[in-house]
Amino acid sequence: MALHVTIVEDEEPLALMLRYNLEAEGYRVDTIERGDEAEIRLRETVPDLLLLDWMLPGISGIELCRRLRQREATRSLPIIMLTARGEESERVRGLATGADDYVVKPFSLPELMARVRAILRRAKPDLIATVLKAGDLELDRETHRVRRAGRELHLGPTEFKLLEFLMQSPGRVFSRAQMLDGVWGRDIYVDERTVDVHVGRLRKALGRGRDPIRTVRGSGYSFDEEFAGAGAA
Ligand code: CA
Repeated sequence: MALHVTIVEDEEPLALMLRYNLEAEGYRVDTIERGDEAEIRLRETVPDLLLLDWMLPGISGIELCRRLRQREATRSLPIIMLTARGEESERVRGLATGADDYVVKPFSLPELMARVRAILRRAKPDLIATVLKAGDLELDRETHRVRRAGRELHLGPTEFKLLEFLMQSPGRVFSRAQMLDGVWGRDIYVDERTVDVHVGRLRKALGRGRDPIRTVRGSGYSFDEEFAGAGAA
């Protein structure tokens, strides 16, 4: 069963970008633009995680967070606040209202996704896989170790993130631009050819044997679904 994430955010492009990336990781996502509307909808359905913008029409994210904490059904709902303000006192206020974590806009997408996973792992330890497995590959998100056929592989930090990114969605084809967003983050400028360089390094680090990464001509790369389904063969 897919974990359910609700995004309350009035900046539509940001809400769409978050939705797209969360869905790519397999979450079920809905988006709400107004604080007051969110309050009503959260009375009907409680998601597994709430991404809550600070400044919202209707009622503010802070106020909504405070109200949610007063209700039994949402008292322990994991909440990550999205805030455009960076002042330390404001951050403290954000947490004082009961949010579990916060990120300051503009944030790095890989970092936000990592926090979403970390919070869900704490809240729903059985539902979030710490270890991704495909074929004879095992990637441990917590220890950052990768094994192939039981032998430990030595990957650089970027190659690790790249493999994790691809392994999360076997079969899905990612463009170089999507990989840059997902692995390097939006705010870092790197050339699309950088992706090819790191895929090359990753392939080398994965060693001999079947190549789990498929180059899709004219599109990008994907984690080979057949490899993922191949068991230890
Ligand atoms: Ca806003």
